[in-house]
Amino acid sequence: MKHTALITGASRGIGAALACRFAAEGYHLALCCHNSYETLQALATKLETTCSIQVLCFRGDVGDYTFICDMVQKTLDTFGQIDVLINNAGISYIGLLTDMDITDWNQIVATNLTSVFSTCRQVIPSMVHAKSGHIINISSVVGIFGNAGQANYAASKAGVIGLTKSAAKELASRGITVNAVAPGFIETDMTQKLSEQVRDQVLRQIPAGAFGKPEHVAKTVAFLASDDASYITGQVIQVDGGM
Ligand code: NAP
Repeated sequence: MKHTALITGASRGIGAALACRFAAEGYHLALCCHNSYETLQALATKLETTCSIQVLCFRGDVGDYTFICDMVQKTLDTFGQIDVLINNAGISYIGLLTDMDITDWNQIVATNLTSVFSTCRQVIPSMVHAKSGHIINISSVVGIFGNAGQANYAASKAGVIGLTKSAAKELASRGITVNAVAPGFIETDMTQKLSEQVRDQVLRQIPAGAFGKPEHVAKTVAFLASDDASYITGQVIQVDGGM
């Protein structure tokens, strides 16, 4: 029987690379995005054809608990099980804390952190029942080190790490692993919008001398979802070229 992976934020960037990687490994997929639904559907059609898998697509806001409940239930109704949950959907923010209003704070926290609670809350009971499962949450190096001009984003990504480590301790005895991946600077739409000056500054901080690619993150996540990583839980793996 094929396994199933639910990946949030799969229309572009790291999420699209994750979808390609897990499709290539033969997983059925449940994918979601917020706005780029046609792009997501085109990716799903391509993966269904080339990898002989089934893909469910959902459009909605991961910050909306009702959307998450509906997506998880439809995925379980269709595939019977979610073996791998990847919380990838996220948005970034640039601006000083003193210029940030409460809406800026709440939107980032809802999208990047509360969404991770919501999917975990909905998916974990079925994983406990199955006595197996892998949850991989996409954090960020700024959740570890902080970053001037990204207090809300860094706090949300640090929150993802705290949630990951706590869930790992609660679920290890149930055969479920929970880990986080913390990318550094990965070439996607999220980083494309930064100025040349900022990109040059960041590049100088990367010992590997190059920005990362979405596939670098996807390979690490695939490892954490594999049997080879069955004794790894509660960890944060930086994919950052030595940053
Ligand atoms: P991206 O290219 O901007 O793609 C973001 C994805 O998340 C898209 O599929 C987007 O859907 C989806 N999304 C955003 N808000 C959503 C919402 N409210 N509900 C549902 N889906 C939503 O970003 P990325 O660079 O691939 O980043 C992916 C993850 O890695 C994020 O959590 C990000 O914080 C993290 N990360 C990225 C980097 C980096 O350098 N790129 C570094 C560290 C961490 P639509 O297409 O519909 O908008």
